Amino acid sequence: MTEAQARGIAPTIIPRDQHVISRSQISERALTVLYRLKNAGYGAYLVGGGVRDLSLGREPKDFDVATDATPDEVKALFRNCRLIGRRFRLAHVHWGPEIIEVATFRALAPPDDADAGERVLEDGMILRDNVYGTIEEDALRRDFTINALYYNIADFSVVDYAGGMADIHAGRLRLIGDPEVRYREDPVRMLRAVRFAAKLGFTIDTETADPIPWMADLLDDIPPARLFDEVLKLFMAGQGTETFESLRQHGLFRYLFPATDTALDDDEHGQFITFVARALESTDRRVNEERPVTPAFLFAALIWPAIMAQLPKGRLTPDLDRELVEQSITEALERQLRQVAIPKRFAMPMREIWALQPRFDTRSEKKASRLFGHPRFRAAYDFLLLRGEAGLADPELAEWWRTFTTTSSDAPPPTPARRRRRGGKRRRGASGSEAANEPAAGNPDDGSG
Ligand code: ATP
Ligand code: MG
Repeated sequence: MTEAQARGIAPTIIPRDQHVISRSQISERALTVLYRLKNAGYGAYLVGGGVRDLSLGREPKDFDVATDATPDEVKALFRNCRLIGRRFRLAHVHWGPEIIEVATFRALAPPDDADAGERVLEDGMILRDNVYGTIEEDALRRDFTINALYYNIADFSVVDYAGGMADIHAGRLRLIGDPEVRYREDPVRMLRAVRFAAKLGFTIDTETADPIPWMADLLDDIPPARLFDEVLKLFMAGQGTETFESLRQHGLFRYLFPATDTALDDDEHGQFITFVARALESTDRRVNEERPVTPAFLFAALIWPAIMAQLPKGRLTPDLDRELVEQSITEALERQLRQVAIPKRFAMPMREIWALQPRFDTRSEKKASRLFGHPRFRAAYDFLLLRGEAGLADPELAEWWRTFTTTSSDAPPPTPARRRRRGGKRRRGASGSEAANEPAAGNPDDGSG
């Protein structure tokens, strides 16, 4: 970024014939919002992930609009509009299930503004109460250059204040401004860097990547609830495998799953790594096939190495006191929750999946049949198979269970091959350890937003 751009003077205007975004790819509703704002004399732009994804030929998750109209002015234009946010107000225009978020250009709080009362962190961005700004200011407070492109409905051009379009073409993820300053402002941007790079297959620019390992400990100051939201986005978006590897590489994983990170480092035979990798692959596969997933199974897998590492032999053994396992589960979960606030609706099924593992250590048909009745049987059984695949459970035991569940008339039915998904989409059948990502272990729609 040039000095002139940094001061917000010289945007690059990319005319319609030099970019690939076409109105036909923008949702009907977003277009209506953009046009109505424009016809009322306001500036109206599509912004953020929508412009980025369309520029890359991808389907955006949603469409956000930025404008110079104030929230009240936006509200006056739309009957179906609600203002949200106490300190910085945003307009939500509702059309049935679709919400178009309309944000007034925001100004950055001056860096020397020490009056905490005037500042607020929203989405990690430091803001003052309803201090509106120019489009330049709005662009430069954003995180990455590729997230700061504005599609102008007035002439279908893209307005680029930070060199984002060049970075789109180069496949480069680059923070706007001085990376150290931007990470200090909001350490979660380090996680976002890894997330976007994995999602888009981009390379993190050297200057953006370099400070991450030594600044990563700033994540310790982020509220565990915000980290949970971020962890969901990191692992449930279909690129969990790449994301996990990148988080480990950049020294970020240990600020999310500290005890697991240690267990993975100390893992001589690589079984924990295999186990975690298999769980991530199975989740990615399901997400990419648009089958529903629940975070509970994956989180249970991500924390399992931490539970095992506390046991005398580093794994479940037949002679092991159940109390000891129970204690290890409780301790590992408590430690984990201090870092990342996993809500109860996921933590409960996780606990059950773990607690059932020692009970699989039997070849007695009578004892085995009793497990069938457990509501978490299916997920726990799939967890056992996963352990078996990674060498963390006796493969013969896993095989015994596989045979028993497929031959016993008491066995609960496997995951139905076809079921209607909420919203009407169909998904394919599940088998093996993948089935455990089923909503049976929690609501797949929970917490994904
Ligand atoms: P996704 O497809 O994951 O939703 P997105 O780019 O839309 O990607 P959001 O988290 O929805 O990401 O944020 C919308 C926009 O707000 C971003 O594109 C970026 O411009 C800005 N933004 C979000 N979080 C931050 C942050 N922590 N710091 C600076 N800018 C941010
Ligand atoms: Mg978004």
